[in-house]
Amino acid sequence: MAVDFERIKRDFPILNVKSHGKPLVYLDSAATSQKPRQVIDAVSDFYSNYNANINRGVYEISEKATEAYSNSKNKVSSFINAGGMEEIIYVRNATEAINLVAMSWGDQNIKKGDRILISEMEHHSNIVPWQLLAKKKGAALEYIKLTEDNTRLDMEDLKAKVESGPKLLSITHVSNVLGTINDVKRITEMAHKNGAAVLIDGAQSAPHMAVDVKDIGCDFFAFSGHKMLAPTGIGVLYGKSEVLESMPPFLGGGDMIKTVEKQSATWNDLPWKFEAGTSNIEGGIGLGVAVDYLNSIGMDNITAHESELTEYALSRLDGMSGVSVFGPGQKDLDIKTGVIAFAIKGVHPHDVASIFDNEGVAIRAGHHCAMPLVVGLAPEKAVARMSFYIYNRKEDIDRALKAIETIKRIFKIN
Ligand code: PLP
Repeated sequence: MAVDFERIKRDFPILNVKSHGKPLVYLDSAATSQKPRQVIDAVSDFYSNYNANINRGVYEISEKATEAYSNSKNKVSSFINAGGMEEIIYVRNATEAINLVAMSWGDQNIKKGDRILISEMEHHSNIVPWQLLAKKKGAALEYIKLTEDNTRLDMEDLKAKVESGPKLLSITHVSNVLGTINDVKRITEMAHKNGAAVLIDGAQSAPHMAVDVKDIGCDFFAFSGHKMLAPTGIGVLYGKSEVLESMPPFLGGGDMIKTVEKQSATWNDLPWKFEAGTSNIEGGIGLGVAVDYLNSIGMDNITAHESELTEYALSRLDGMSGVSVFGPGQKDLDIKTGVIAFAIKGVHPHDVASIFDNEGVAIRAGHHCAMPLVVGLAPEKAVARMSFYIYNRKEDIDRALKAIETIKRIFKIN
């Protein structure tokens, strides 16, 4: 059944806003997504009709809040094909999910002289927690190289580094700069064969494609609600239940305990063992509604829609004088999401983004929290980036192309 993406766009109230007197075109969903009316209404409904703390109330509205929060975990579990809500830990965001693994699993398992393997296309969230852990433990942090054209992982280098036996491989599913989709199933298989645990950073994949953690086989999968239509402040760590069972708690406090004595405590069951203190209840409920919304469209339809937009944008940018595009190109759409980083010769990416802004088009410029990658892409050590989601249409890309033409005119680029 064909999906009416024009109707979907109407579900997002913010897209009626004017920016600099022009209808807002939002091309920064890789940073955070906009929210549909359904999610906004669900949060408002919670506060208006059943706001109460969860898990301990014996009165009606607390039970309703507890049920909505737990239902949300069940929905998220199905969304990524996990084994049930005990494998779904709610955290603030992907960053906190990765830090949880570094501080709990890493503290328990990484020893002096061990190796932790990541790649040169990681977001700072999947670099800095491992730097901290490596320093604390006297472990080594190693990087899988990219191919010379900086579009994808160098699989030869990956193979050699995985075969030399790291304790952990932590890698992104999709690059937030290049849009490259990594073959995480194959990479996980290779890592497991060589005895490494595997964490996949799914911050840029879960919002845009069907994810099946059982099929991937990874031990951990981290993602953020705010990039997939949900409120900010809610994120997810998936972990295999047997791995989570073996790990010590991340934070101590209420809810994560079964019993507390003066000098000791015992831990609650999964997933609550890792959720100390009052949860982000509105965020959890909002995430459940966001998952319903994405499922109602169908993740494969979303991927197809974004791929069409990406192809359209790349076909117009390719060969445009003065414009360089980073990441896989038109011929490699099967390994590319709707994230397009680009540079305009001689124009600082911040000036590019400011002129886009004047035209009412929101894009991002800078190092995109991926400095080890971005400093090598352009002399400014920064790039501009547009990124697409379900509410974008080809007309939005036309507005972006018009902004590029304006920049070329102002800076006299032929
Ligand atoms: N990983 C990747 C690939 C990202 O793109 C991002 C955010 O842009 C993150 C991790 C961190 O996400 P958050 O800031 O929501 O924790």
